[in-house]
Amino acid sequence: MNHPPVTLHDKKFKIYIQERKILHSIEVVAARLSHEYRDKCPLFLSVLNGSFMFASDLMKEMSIDCEISFIRLSSYSDMGSTGQVKEIMGLKESIKYRHVVVVEDIVDTGHTVAALLPQLQSQGPASVEVAALLVKPEAHEHQLDIKYPVMEIGNDFVVGYGLDYNGLGRNLRDIYKVM
Ligand code: 5GP
Ligand code: MG
Ligand code: MG
Repeated sequence: MNHPPVTLHDKKFKIYIQERKILHSIEVVAARLSHEYRDKCPLFLSVLNGSFMFASDLMKEMSIDCEISFIRLSSYSDMGSTGQVKEIMGLKESIKYRHVVVVEDIVDTGHTVAALLPQLQSQGPASVEVAALLVKPEAHEHQLDIKYPVMEIGNDFVVGYGLDYNGLGRNLRDIYKVM
């Protein structure tokens, strides 16, 4: 398949990770989760908007009982992290005694996950772990234990497969990086 560069707003992006590779990497992590959470009925908490496509494909590969709920919080504007983390919105059900798996699109500086985990921990879950489609180890500013990373990338700005640049690009099947 041919993947010409795409233009979103003022920037050009080139193909970086193809859908086939993304889906295969998700299968591997889903198999691990299905094994490690057997008999635990994990509650996936998908952090909107960026993780919607990942959450969907991850759920389809789970072979055990599991639940999903969606939360919202954003710390990112344009192409730079503001480091400001808002409150969790949309968490209606109790996570007390639940095995929670946060489903994130990308862990960049780590500010978001670093702020989110203590908020979840304070609600008395049995456990909290993170599944992240992408992690940028070079950009981390926090000591984080991302137990279920799907793919590691360099310190590039990426779009596609749910990830946006100012609202655009979420619909792309593949992941692109800024040129
Ligand atoms: P943090 O810096 O707190 O780890 O990341 C916060 C959020 O910024 C991520 O959940 C994601 O929504 C957004 N983000 C970080 N890096 C990128 C990137 O390369 N591309 C896009 N589209 N969003 C990113
Ligand atoms: Mg996110
Ligand atoms: Mg965004």
